Amino acid sequence: MITESIREKYTVVIGLEVHAQLLTKSKIFNSDESEYGGAPNTHVGVITLAHPGTLPRLNRLAIEQAIKMGLACHSEISRFQIFDRKNYFYPDLPKGYQITQDRTPICKGGYVSIKTKEGKRIDIALNRIHLEEDAGKSIHLENELDTLVDFNRAGVGLIEIVTEPVIRTSEDAATLLAEIRKLVRYLDVCDGNMEEGSLRCDANVSVMLCEAKEFGKKVEVKNMNSFRHVQRAIDHEVERQIELIEKGEPVISETRTFNINDGKTYAMRTKEELNDYRYFPDPDLSPVVISNELLGRIKSMMPTLPQALVDKFVSHYQLTEYDALLLTEAKEMAAFFEALCALNTLHKENANWLMGPVKSFLNENNIDIAAFPVSADKLSELISLVHKKQLSYSIAVQRIFPLLAASPQLDILSHAKELNLLQVNNDDFIINIIGAVIIDFPEKVEEYQNGKKGIITMFMGEVMKRSKGKADPKAANELLVKKLNEIVIR
Ligand code: ADP
Ligand code: MG
Repeated sequence: MITESIREKYTVVIGLEVHAQLLTKSKIFNSDESEYGGAPNTHVGVITLAHPGTLPRLNRLAIEQAIKMGLACHSEISRFQIFDRKNYFYPDLPKGYQITQDRTPICKGGYVSIKTKEGKRIDIALNRIHLEEDAGKSIHLENELDTLVDFNRAGVGLIEIVTEPVIRTSEDAATLLAEIRKLVRYLDVCDGNMEEGSLRCDANVSVMLCEAKEFGKKVEVKNMNSFRHVQRAIDHEVERQIELIEKGEPVISETRTFNINDGKTYAMRTKEELNDYRYFPDPDLSPVVISNELLGRIKSMMPTLPQALVDKFVSHYQLTEYDALLLTEAKEMAAFFEALCALNTLHKENANWLMGPVKSFLNENNIDIAAFPVSADKLSELISLVHKKQLSYSIAVQRIFPLLAASPQLDILSHAKELNLLQVNNDDFIINIIGAVIIDFPEKVEEYQNGKKGIITMFMGEVMKRSKGKADPKAANELLVKKLNEIVIR
């Protein structure tokens, strides 16, 4: 373990390479299905398998999706692009090369904004976003000598988002990855499912003495599929590299893999020299020219992005930034909130209901808001009934909401009447209960008189219990205090 004072001598440098599988029906250069899953080797036509004489043909939607992401990241969109062959041999790469974009990435530059742990907004500069195809999957089973290969994934379209080496902490790296996942989901460019590997990340990490002018040797940790793994892997790499340097040993520029069980990284291979790949333009694909019309059409289809929504939720609906951030985590949740706000004017209550009872319901049932059974209409009605004090909040949450989730067409008001759940705002009703409670607990009244004011909660509990939760708690509390004070004076 290195000490804090040694750690402080060093600056950490991180650059991410994020791969996102495109949400196209077919693969990027042929018509095989690109959907995740399926029995092994069932989405494998002759082009995917690189049979001699087969030719690739570009999927137009892949281009459009990459441009969408580029626009969202403020990148420059390349109007003229070629595809390149990146040559290497690997069993899950049938052609012996990967089609990618080396010299003419579809998007150049740009940035993604993140909020640091300290609450500061910073822009993480991107180097590029390029299009490429995924490889198949090699499967190494335990206690088996053979390696199995599944080519379903081979040829699925990817965008690779490459940052500049401008990230300085592992938290920021994880936050950036989360932000990228949010963006691709808002844009319907990728499902962002990290467990299935639709979104995965390589982290490049190096350290240098704070006063150094040049970056240290970098290590690339490959293929991580969770925010936490990315953060842990970087933390371990930083520690490992500083230890090496402090011992006077060199950091070797290599590719490493992260072991999620022990939290350590292990060497896989030393980094290939750039020219090992022998990049050259793929002669089977013609250059791509992006017309003004296409670019204009994509620009006009861009959805409101999360950051703009946060601003709107704060300025237009008067939410706190914290609430706005939570609600815009997924665009479906943000849309549900706006649907509620179109039906009533209770912005803050709407936000609280979504982040409270609704979120808990979704978590308990392990579904997301898209699968939430209750309509905005019905939820808005329930929220308004609470606001009008016809239902107490606790009865609405504990009794009505579960019924509504189970039968979304429920007639809330008549049901609440039938179950005798409507809140009673009648003072006489509450005063009678308070009177009875005071008679039943004379010694508690005495304690209250002697200054033990906290005992009011016990009285309130009793009043609410006897009213079967139907007394308006605020009114009951006021009446109770008044009554107890009257008794004290007497
Ligand atoms: P390579 O040629 O090894 O792929 P690139 O220059 O293309 O390297 O960069 C790949 C990634 O590594 C980028 O995300 C970049 O920001 C990052 N990177 C480059 N140099 C460093 C460094 N010294 N330390 C950490 N990350 C780096
Ligand atoms: Mg690389």
